Amino acid sequence: MGKIVAIANQKGGVGKTTTAVNLAASLAILEKKVLLVDADPQANATSAVGIPADELEANIYDVLVNDLDVEEVIYETETPNLHLVPSGIALANAEVELINRFRREDVIKNNIIAKVRDKYDFVIIDCLPSLGLITINALTAADTVLVPVQCEYFALEGLTKLQNTISVVQQQLNPSLKIEGIVLTMYDSRLRLAKMVVAKVREIFGSKVFDTIIHRNARISEAPNLHLPVVMINAGSKGAVNYLNLAEEFMKNN
Ligand code: ADP
Ligand code: MG
Repeated sequence: MGKIVAIANQKGGVGKTTTAVNLAASLAILEKKVLLVDADPQANATSAVGIPADELEANIYDVLVNDLDVEEVIYETETPNLHLVPSGIALANAEVELINRFRREDVIKNNIIAKVRDKYDFVIIDCLPSLGLITINALTAADTVLVPVQCEYFALEGLTKLQNTISVVQQQLNPSLKIEGIVLTMYDSRLRLAKMVVAKVREIFGSKVFDTIIHRNARISEAPNLHLPVVMINAGSKGAVNYLNLAEEFMKNN
């Protein structure tokens, strides 16, 4: 049975999508069957694995709001073993449209996860930068939550709020939800500040922090324009090696 991992942090630009795409692709390259679920209306993960979000007839929105069968929107990607449930701008309306639905927090769980769990080793959900209903849905559907934290000045800002949201979900919606871990991203070894952030995050969160640190790397930031995960562009680049190491550490924990 597959494991469901939500990649969440309500801060934007911390490396959620980059981590979702490249962890998913790295696990796939390590021969795991992986489904990447794009749950952000910006559809950055969709485009980063080469699926043209604007040209699709249906996406995750239709699965959540119109109860379209998820099988209808599962796409193969150029990365072997990596499939995608794409997103699109319509998803921005979903929170409002789901508001009066019975068990509105369970829609990702019932309409997506229940139908795909047996077919994949891992399902990775890329969340949007908010703690609204879609993120609550992802946390309700997930076995674990993985939190990317950028190695910068305001790194810890908002983490308490995220922890509170996770606690509420554990108490009311998904008692078995666990923390997969914190991943430090965009580390720049030239900056003293980055080293201080790493030390602080390790001091506070201890063994919950992955040993693997994702460094700031140009190949990683260029990859979305090439519509391929960095491991598919240049598996020897520092960025690819970082994410492959993260995938191996992740698998060791699982
Ligand atoms: P989020 O999904 O949390 O908003 P993204 O993954 O989209 O964050 O990352 C924000 C920006 O930072 C993107 O332009 C992305 O390409 C860039 N980025 C993320 N991780 C790295 C990295 N390790 N090295 C260089 N650029 C990165
Ligand atoms: Mg994102």
